[in-house]
Amino acid sequence: MALFTGELQRALAAPGCPLCRLVRHQEEAWIWHTLYEFTGDPGVRSRLDASYGLCHEHAHLLRRVLTGHRLLGGSGVARIYETVVLRYSEQLAALQGAGGRLKQWLGSERQQLAKLELKGCPLCLSSQQAERGAVFFLLEALQKEGQLWRPRLKSSEGLCNPHLLLTLEDNQAHEDPELRQFLIQDQLERLAELQGRLYQLQRKQRYDVYEQISEEEACSWQEAIWRFTGMQYEKLLWQVGPESDVGA
Ligand SMILES: [Zn+2]
Ligand SMILES: [Zn+2]
Repeated sequence: MALFTGELQRALAAPGCPLCRLVRHQEEAWIWHTLYEFTGDPGVRSRLDASYGLCHEHAHLLRRVLTGHRLLGGSGVARIYETVVLRYSEQLAALQGAGGRLKQWLGSERQQLAKLELKGCPLCLSSQQAERGAVFFLLEALQKEGQLWRPRLKSSEGLCNPHLLLTLEDNQAHEDPELRQFLIQDQLERLAELQGRLYQLQRKQRYDVYEQISEEEACSWQEAIWRFTGMQYEKLLWQVGPESDVGA
């Protein structure tokens, strides 16, 4: 809990949605620990075999984590994908062998092809759990130590709309009308400011207006993108241990 309090405080002080940051932080940590310690773990391996490895987004994050950490080599990923390739090939070969009797022996072709789909990414699952945990701790902090955490949220860049929705859907916010009101009001103020900056950026770019565009106005279109869809990070956030969070 103490560790998480520190992480939450750092995430609130960093740019963009703090919940997006906490989730991404956890995803990088999961990849690092899995590659460093668990590529031989039967439970982890069977889940990765079943899902044919990681989903598109997480597989490419894994690639970036691997190239960003000199302690990790490609052999851990090779170990994971060696059995994934084998399992996929077996399923694909079963399709070939079934030929015209596919429907009779193996059910409909659609069902058989569905066995080749990449689904159930273990990091997606872990990420969803981390997200629910982060929402829970944020709401608990805002509820039980509001005097401390509400100003911290207010002075942060605030939540993205998808994470706002997740917090409002959570039982803690649902059962506390005052907290719910605080979250909605905070977001409404941010959206009103964003709307103003979006308007000013367009107005000041007109050829007949000679007013300086502020930095916040220049970035307003980028804020609109992350505010409505969540953050994307160009840099890695997690380096070998939580203490070395680079706050990209
Ligand atoms: Zn977010
Ligand atoms: Zn995934």
